[in-house]
Amino acid sequence: MRISQELLDQVVAHALRDAPDECCGLLGVKDGDVVSVHELENVLQGPKVFGFELGGSSYPRAMMAIDDEEADAGVLYHSHTRSKPYPSQTDINFGRDPQRLPGVEWLIIGTKGEEPEIRSYLIAEDGGVTEVPVTVVD
Ligand SMILES: [Zn+2]
Repeated sequence: MRISQELLDQVVAHALRDAPDECCGLLGVKDGDVVSVHELENVLQGPKVFGFELGGSSYPRAMMAIDDEEADAGVLYHSHTRSKPYPSQTDINFGRDPQRLPGVEWLIIGTKGEEPEIRSYLIAEDGGVTEVPVTVVD
């Protein structure tokens, strides 16, 4: 994905604000460019080592807003506050499920270290994980 510094800063700010809880959200994408940030409610909120679920009313609301922008919900982001920014087994089980959000990029913000670490992945239906580049543009 390509993302502006401004939108990436919004995502990182969300992750830092919710730490040590994990945050999650969706990014609207048009032609490979991120055009919007939609924060989602983390229904498992709490000091958990892993785990978030899409829930509450924030998810359908975000999907409708992205639809209104004529964008695609191309990126699901969340934070890892106590582990490396690499998909956990829970993430992989979610990501490979064709009933959920197949084909989205998984942007993970690691907030464990001094500096936030930003990584993005694709999760295949067979559970394979491939890192994909995050290109920050002006
Ligand atoms: Zn995770």
